[in-house]
Amino acid sequence: MEKPKLIKENGLRHDGRRPNELRPIRMSVGILNKASGSALVEYGETKVLAAVHGPREIPQRHLLLPDRAVIRCRYHMLSFSTHERKSPVPTRREIELSKVIREALEPVVISETFPRTAIDVFIEIINADGGTRTAAVTAASLALADAGIPMKDLVVGVAVGKVDGVLVLDIDEEEDMFGEADMPVAIAPSLGIVTLLQLNGVLTREEFSEALRLALAGANLIYEKAREALRDRYMKVRVEE
Ligand code: ADP
Repeated sequence: MEKPKLIKENGLRHDGRRPNELRPIRMSVGILNKASGSALVEYGETKVLAAVHGPREIPQRHLLLPDRAVIRCRYHMLSFSTHERKSPVPTRREIELSKVIREALEPVVISETFPRTAIDVFIEIINADGGTRTAAVTAASLALADAGIPMKDLVVGVAVGKVDGVLVLDIDEEEDMFGEADMPVAIAPSLGIVTLLQLNGVLTREEFSEALRLALAGANLIYEKAREALRDRYMKVRVEE
């Protein structure tokens, strides 16, 4: 497939966004009544469902820890989430991403509150259009909060890319596929920590600093939306009561 033009003459991206613009972001929290916590997060056409079970006791007692809860995470793409049917069997990529997402969440979860229990985070990619791991981190962190699990902060994710020589925020699949670099980042804004940072491709040191700055600015906007989604969920419950 021939590389499409990713930055047009007017400086806008192939979908009409400015370089520092996010896709339309939607979030809803507490949408499943069987899970302990849940969230649906959409970054443009990327749609991710996260559900949390626990903290709970599990039969595999050897996995439990005496001083804190063990967090388990499964990232999975549904068969209809990609152009070509994705086999439901977990791929190496999904196994790696499950670990990466778990590690992005662990620093904010106060797991010492629930020793000898497991907290399971299930992530289903419903529709994939770039940035699924970063949207997954945001969805999982909202689902954990919805499950009432004590956390030091929410973690939110966003990917920055370099396309046609320009740094752009919140890349979609086309920009990921044909761009020169992509850099997914997860940030806990109030704690001021980065819990995930990956870079595929090449950036100069200056571009790397600028890409991180762009990611931080984007993460702050997503963070506001995440807090708003939680407020919406719990204000509504209070009004209904
Ligand atoms: P991320 O989704 O976090 O950006 P990748 O960089 O690995 O992770 O993937 C970029 C995009 O490529 C995905 O969001 C998705 O749109 C597409 N993609 C990933 N894996 C597959 C797959 N197995 N089949 C088809 N498309 C895929």
